[in-house]
Amino acid sequence: CGVFGIYNHREAPQLTYLGLHALQHRGQESAGICASDGEKWYKHRGMGLVAEAFGKGDLEKFKGHIAIGHTRYTTAGSSKIENAQPLFFRYAQGSMAVAHNGNLVNAALLRKELEAKGSIFQTTSDTEVIAHLIARSERTDLPGAVKDALQHIKGAYALCVMNERQLVIALDPNGLRPLSLGRLGDAVCVASETCAFDIIGAEYWRDVQPGELIVVDENGIVESTHTEKTQRSMCIFEYIYFARPDSDIDGINVHMARKRLGKQLAAESAIDADVIIGVPDSSISAAIGFAETTGIPYEIGLIKNRYVGRTFIQPSQELRERAVHMKLSAVRKVVEGKRVVMIDDSIVRGTTSNRIVRMLREAGAKEVHVRISSPPVMNPCFYGIDTSTRDELIAATKSVEEIRQAIEADSLAFLSVEGMQEAIGRKDSTAPNNGHCLACFTGQYPTEIDFEEALPALK
Ligand code: 5GP
Ligand code: SF4
Ligand code: MG
Repeated sequence: CGVFGIYNHREAPQLTYLGLHALQHRGQESAGICASDGEKWYKHRGMGLVAEAFGKGDLEKFKGHIAIGHTRYTTAGSSKIENAQPLFFRYAQGSMAVAHNGNLVNAALLRKELEAKGSIFQTTSDTEVIAHLIARSERTDLPGAVKDALQHIKGAYALCVMNERQLVIALDPNGLRPLSLGRLGDAVCVASETCAFDIIGAEYWRDVQPGELIVVDENGIVESTHTEKTQRSMCIFEYIYFARPDSDIDGINVHMARKRLGKQLAAESAIDADVIIGVPDSSISAAIGFAETTGIPYEIGLIKNRYVGRTFIQPSQELRERAVHMKLSAVRKVVEGKRVVMIDDSIVRGTTSNRIVRMLREAGAKEVHVRISSPPVMNPCFYGIDTSTRDELIAATKSVEEIRQAIEADSLAFLSVEGMQEAIGRKDSTAPNNGHCLACFTGQYPTEIDFEEALPALK
């Protein structure tokens, strides 16, 4: 998902709308904005892309100096309007809106406990659990109640909570999801990715740190923490696939990181070939890096139909498979009679690679060598990236050679875990793995995971 928030701007909702457009790649199932002018609330949520969720006139009615917004990608709860964010609540202390990116790993357990105490849930989203905990806190101030609530939840959360006069920003103790702060004149803004600042003309200020709690209101900015027990483990998949190439995460540009992944991949598994192609859009940077290191020309061998959504986001397997054909086509004149190296950023189920290998052969490629700019994904993610259950992950049960056969490639190689970390270039001696989460590759999860509970919650 993508979250955005802004405080102290007379066009806060309109800037949030623009920010959400820049965060569209982080979720295409629904979008929404909540804003306030200090007294009244303005809210809208809808299904689909930001441009679909907000029809003509929906934004015009918005006013306010404070706003939060969300683009949703379903990993917990189902894809329907009730689960669209920001969620809005009235409770004993007034009203609040909540926007959350990430996945809690103890949401099902907390929900059971809260229901036993009388809570009634209106959504299946784990974000509502956070809201119930905030509402039940003995603290009457919003920042205090948020801090209280965060003591109970585990997992990944990049969070924006607002009432009529305060914006509260929090990041989980592992900093699993990215979250950055920016400034636009006297306004403060927060976004999942820095590309949202560029679109509104804001200046990047800094990244939110693991365990941080930041409050913005008429008294200014208060930077504090909600826990002292922090250990950075930023999702490495943000660099590999999820984030937009023009974003910087902790000062590292995503496109440049991907290019270095491609260079490292070439150093580890170069092969004699005629042309290098990348699977658009997320693998283009890595393909350019691979070509640069090998000296084999980079070409545009696959064209993406930009009017079709990301295949992965379609909830059912059947839809996902159909969407691949709608989405990509091979450039025959580039691949015909050639030994082609096809670079992709990841193999999850293996369906994408298999389709593309076939497509390239149908277009006349003589050989198709697949190179993947990340290691095999062998473990599910519980933190908000949909890498599904273990039985759907092709690398969980198959060797590299077996995967090669399954995707029908002439050769296949993945990047090593060490090479991946080296290429991204983040150096952090205070945390394991240079401050990365690598769990889907290594199986070492940075938080406790109750598998009995977390697995069904992924469905
Ligand atoms: P597969 O077809 O192997 O299940 O999926 C891998 C392909 O899906 C890659 O081309 C990757 O770019 C794309 N993809 C889309 N969404 C995601 C995601 O959330 N995680 C990962 N790892 N890959 C994704
Ligand atoms: Fe990211 Fe993988 Fe960790 Fe999930 S398990 S947060 S996808 S690195
Ligand atoms: Mg891809």
